[in-house]
Amino acid sequence: MSGFFGCVSRHSAVADVFYGTDYHSHLGTKRAGMAFFDGEKFVRSIHSLENGYFRNKFEGDLDRFGESKLGIGVISDNESQPVTVTSHLGRFSVVTVARIDNLEEITSELLAKNVHFAELSGSEINPTEAVAILISNGKSFKDGIELAQSKIKGSCSMLVLTDSGIYAARDRFGRTPIIIAKDDKGYVAASESSSFSNLGYSYVKDLGAGEIVFMSSDGLREVKAAGNRKQVCSFLWVYYGYPSGYYEGINVENTRYRCGAALAARDKADGMTFDFAGGIPDSGVGHAIGYSNAMGIPYRRPFVKYTPTWPRSFMPQNQNMRDLVAKMKLLPNKEFTTGQNMVLLDDSIVRGTQLKDNVVKLLETGAKEVHMRIACPPLIFPCVFLNFSTSRSTFDLFTRRVIRDIEGTDKLTNEMLAAYIDPNGEKYQEMVSIMAKHLQLDSLKFQHLEDIVAAIGLPKEQLCTHCWDNSSYME
Ligand code: SF4
Repeated sequence: MSGFFGCVSRHSAVADVFYGTDYHSHLGTKRAGMAFFDGEKFVRSIHSLENGYFRNKFEGDLDRFGESKLGIGVISDNESQPVTVTSHLGRFSVVTVARIDNLEEITSELLAKNVHFAELSGSEINPTEAVAILISNGKSFKDGIELAQSKIKGSCSMLVLTDSGIYAARDRFGRTPIIIAKDDKGYVAASESSSFSNLGYSYVKDLGAGEIVFMSSDGLREVKAAGNRKQVCSFLWVYYGYPSGYYEGINVENTRYRCGAALAARDKADGMTFDFAGGIPDSGVGHAIGYSNAMGIPYRRPFVKYTPTWPRSFMPQNQNMRDLVAKMKLLPNKEFTTGQNMVLLDDSIVRGTQLKDNVVKLLETGAKEVHMRIACPPLIFPCVFLNFSTSRSTFDLFTRRVIRDIEGTDKLTNEMLAAYIDPNGEKYQEMVSIMAKHLQLDSLKFQHLEDIVAAIGLPKEQLCTHCWDNSSYME
């Protein structure tokens, strides 16, 4: 994933962009960047976050940005950003939250027009540069942004910093958010509304699908109205979003409470109960609180996360090292494990490796029974719209490996996979019982799709639920 923040102010925007971008640090761990227009020139700074925090990395750069009134910042899990280009539209800088599935097709088309690419991401074309070049192929910024929106398969939300203001353009199906807020000095646009409160901004609106606005010293201007086909990523509420944030006016933490409550309601109906509920830190905590409140059992922490020396941003490239880091971060608390019959909650099961390590730890510290409830349905279809971690490739998904073993082939067709979506189906139940056995769980249950849709509270057709039911627009 990635997240961005942009600010147009009558006073200096530098501190707000600095702190506003920092509040997106949970959305990316690799790189970050900021760009400002100081009234005369564009100034840009990019750093790796692989061995440090955003604030530490950028503090020393702030003087370079002077008293700039226009600025954007990004925390990226992928390429270096912002990209600044000089074009017939003038100079501008772009940040994106994007996954461009047809990058090769777009770059070939641009190269055929004798366009060249200057930046690289690893040894590949920098996707944000491709977006910038598409924009510069338009007759105007509006035209160029619309061109980018129409060409890109996957998803792309962007902020475009010009010498007179900032364009904010949400992905054409609204898969990733852009939220606008204001104070008495100007406007901001962000991926996370939780970045607004401490900076003194008040909510104005969520941009609609494909909507484009322009923020300048003259105020907020609508450039292109929202489309009516929206599919917001459901994972924003379940996992990505910061608990205090809102998307589409719906609070993240409260949605997690409702997810937990829905799981508790099904357990109650099945006559199940436990000594207490606990959440796998951090993403399972909200779901577990919701569960314990609805079930009427205590919330306890059989695990605590050792935060002083394991910052979130320490993310080794190697998967085995990542697993080891995840393992070292969580400390079991024997006081709440020995002899206990507990239910644990987590947002999802991706690879299953970390969860297995955690269950083993609980059993080793004397847990009597460990039951697991997952806040979303089984992840069967890899995300093709957002840059999730690389572990979302097909057979990295635990479910896919189990399905492959059940079906006896790695050539899994959509017809075969469809049998694993329905929680009442035999194949679904076989898959879940194999997963539970592998994870040494006394029971494992996943959220039903209709329950998660109800917990979020938007109509199903306005949500992307593709990774659970293969249902979303693939245009
Ligand atoms: S496929 Fe899943 S993770 Fe990807 S956008 Fe849709 S809901 Fe979000």
